[in-house]
Amino acid sequence: MTNPIDFTSDCSNCAALCCLSLAFDKDDSFAHDKAAGVPCHNLSGFGCAIHKDLISKGYSGCVAYQCLGAGQRATALFDTTWRDDPKMTAPMMDAFRQMRAVQSVLQLLHAASALKLPTLQEQERRHWLNQLTPEQWTPRALETFEEEGVEAEIKTWLRGLAEFVPTS
Ligand code: SF4
Repeated sequence: MTNPIDFTSDCSNCAALCCLSLAFDKDDSFAHDKAAGVPCHNLSGFGCAIHKDLISKGYSGCVAYQCLGAGQRATALFDTTWRDDPKMTAPMMDAFRQMRAVQSVLQLLHAASALKLPTLQEQERRHWLNQLTPEQWTPRALETFEEEGVEAEIKTWLRGLAEFVPTS
């Protein structure tokens, strides 16, 4: 089955949601302490002012991080951004966290297509894929996804596929 979902980050269409949302402790991969919801001090607009020098300046963690395409998808759900309206900070952070979880389990479900699944499990896999690819996500639908523990439910289901993973 071809993969219809693009998990590539598109920073040019994202309101820098990772650089806003994520918390970091100063260590070998991030050169300063940053709290969740506080824009990184290296941000310029929605771009990283040190993008070309991230590794040499001690930010290899930023290079390694993958939002799996959640950033641009979450940004597209809103008519404005946290830069224009600080009240949008919490909703955009929530949507980013929830969309990242959706993209993560979608990626796992697509990876499971490589397994030789019995008919029942393949039908269940397709059911989950359909659940996670609505015509249009909304902030409310993402909240429901999180509130109802769908991510955990799918991960539990995926663990049940272990018997179909080739051992050699
Ligand atoms: S260093 Fe650059 S890429 Fe990393 S969080 Fe800050 S602004 Fe974003």
